[in-house]
Amino acid sequence: MSTAVLHYAAAAVTDRGRKRPSNEDAFGFSVEHGIYLVCDGMGGAAAGEVASSLAVDEMLRLLSSRAEVDNGASQMPQLAEDAICTTNEAIFSRSQRNYKLNGMGTTLVGLLVEERRVWVLNVGDSRCYRMRNRSLEQITHDHSLVEEQVRLGRMTRSEAIRSPLRNVITRALGTQSRVTPDILELEVEPGDLLLLCSDGLTRELTDPTIESLLGTDLPLETRCGRLVDAAKKAGGHDNITCILVSAGPDKN
Ligand code: CA
Repeated sequence: MSTAVLHYAAAAVTDRGRKRPSNEDAFGFSVEHGIYLVCDGMGGAAAGEVASSLAVDEMLRLLSSRAEVDNGASQMPQLAEDAICTTNEAIFSRSQRNYKLNGMGTTLVGLLVEERRVWVLNVGDSRCYRMRNRSLEQITHDHSLVEEQVRLGRMTRSEAIRSPLRNVITRALGTQSRVTPDILELEVEPGDLLLLCSDGLTRELTDPTIESLLGTDLPLETRCGRLVDAAKKAGGHDNITCILVSAGPDKN
């Protein structure tokens, strides 16, 4: 196995879409600290924006200070879980203090990168995908009512896509005093491309369409832009956000 150091690069785009009056998605990343986050807020325009941007800011703040304490890879899942719980409490207590923000919440999908290892953090129905050898694979499981029905064999995939309950998520950040995140660990290979996105992308585009739009050698920014443009062309019913993170051999 190659021991070459991986060189990460990232690009992100967010767009209001064509139907919504505001953008309740938020994103943030730091290549230097190996943190990448997409959040999709809910609870009505102002509240949704507050929840998603608060989540991104808190998570970036909490996780980027980790280098100073030198936790080591074995402690990363606990570190990530602690950051998510603290962020959850911050959003929840803010919504309790201000009645206009009652009930606000947000999804969270994120990556925490440490050399070749990546921890994928997930709450809600924003998604992480991995492109490897031009083949797209969904890494996260949606925390949604229809996904649970599909996994229990009570609903087919195509029924889930058409269901009037497809928007109902079963986990969110900030809506309750406690939250249970999914934290998965991946081993990154040179050439891997990771995509984080809100459901405004995945409701408009099928996985094969996303795969073909990503499967080019165009710059990351261009590929991000093409994903968002395609989702808008397909309807743009919701806010659309995506972050692409590529892992290449170190250029030095
Ligand atoms: Ca959304």
